[in-house]
Amino acid sequence: MTGPCIILADQITLYFCCMRTRFLIIGQGVSGSFLSWYLHKAGEDFLVIDNNNIHAPSRIAAGIINPVTGRRLVTVWMANELFPFAWSAYNEIGAELGITAISQKNIIDFFPNPFMKESFLKKIEEKDPYTSLCVEDKLYTEFFNYEFGCGQIEPVYTAHLEALLPAWRNQLKQKAVLREEQFEQELLQVNENKIEYKDIIAEKIIYCDGTSSFDNRFFKNLPFAPNKGEALVVEIPGLPNRNTFKKSMLLTPLLEKDLFWVGSSYAWDFDDADPTSAFKDNTTAILKEWIKIPFKIVEHRSGLRPATLERRPFVGLHPIHPEIGILNGMGTKGCSLAPFFANQLCNHLLTGAAIAKDADVHRFSRVLSRG
Ligand SMILES: Cc1cc2nc3c(=O)[nH]c(=O)nc-3n(C[C@H](O)[C@H](O)[C@H](O)COP(=O)(O)OP(=O)(O)OC[C@H]3O[C@@H](n4cnc5c(N)ncnc54)[C@H](O)[C@@H]3O)c2cc1C
Repeated sequence: MTGPCIILADQITLYFCCMRTRFLIIGQGVSGSFLSWYLHKAGEDFLVIDNNNIHAPSRIAAGIINPVTGRRLVTVWMANELFPFAWSAYNEIGAELGITAISQKNIIDFFPNPFMKESFLKKIEEKDPYTSLCVEDKLYTEFFNYEFGCGQIEPVYTAHLEALLPAWRNQLKQKAVLREEQFEQELLQVNENKIEYKDIIAEKIIYCDGTSSFDNRFFKNLPFAPNKGEALVVEIPGLPNRNTFKKSMLLTPLLEKDLFWVGSSYAWDFDDADPTSAFKDNTTAILKEWIKIPFKIVEHRSGLRPATLERRPFVGLHPIHPEIGILNGMGTKGCSLAPFFANQLCNHLLTGAAIAKDADVHRFSRVLSRG
């Protein structure tokens, strides 16, 4: 909502506009997109500021939503709740935007050695609902080298953030609720029951700004742990695009024909967020050994995940400054966590509904009270 402010200065009447809104959201990655989506659905007033950083993890992620991860095939936290929620959330926003925002791309897991095959079989024996053996073991021999057979992980989804983020951005722009600019933290004023930023007056500011929150004076004491990830985009004409494939790396189809995303690395110790030749060389060598048909590398992506020491997100309002909120700490799993917790945060903001204890930022009340 835009309202006129009138200032009388030396007989000259100056008119300028101040923007009044309920919620100021910083960031339009997957977190800020879903928070603004739920506020939009609830018919609430909000404004988003985003600098469109092309290296933000939401703009380089594969979007894989996988219920079992790691060498030990551990079932991910809250998979039973997060997965159906993510599927319907992406489908719903995709339908409104007229895009495919999510697809099911079950993982064909090529066992790299007999030990990994054994762990997979053990998981099946334990009656894990997500794992099974490939029905037709030899189906992929035309495309891949693999000696020890394969298993299937199902359901696995791919969130198409490469389509979703620009489409939602356009819609926000059309509604005149997006400002494409850098948010400058030092210009923020926090008063009781309102915040002011440049010409904006809002009831609350919610940070969905990924690693930028690490330096934020209100949230810098949270146990963030940035994690660097790199990936390649590879053109592989003729490779089937119905599945995600895995053998030490994940290879997943992008929406554009013949393009696949390959990754990724997980580095806790790094000098900067830039792509490294070590990752590119290593991944190229893996692909040459794995894929039987020609491929071409078309892009090398790199960015910092907003990860946390205890691998749980930070969701909710600041314990001392209830005008300030956060939706962050999505780590390696933003595509499944962000829709679910954006919805919880939206309900919390509008009705005071509880946020899951493990995600509620109030679990850090003591460190946040230190200022
Ligand atoms: C290589 C790689 C692969 C990944 N693959 C997957 C995957 O397959 N599945 C999965 O679930 N997760 C994956 N992730 C993790 C996932 O990308 C993140 O968890 C998620 O994107 C975090 O989203 P976010 O919106 O919280 O933060 P971000 O993506 O960092 O978004 C923050 C937004 O805020 C904006 N911003 C920041 N500071 C400012 C400022 N001062 N002013 C204005 N705007 C600002 C940025 O431009 C950005 O748009 C991957 C990450 C990487 C790096």
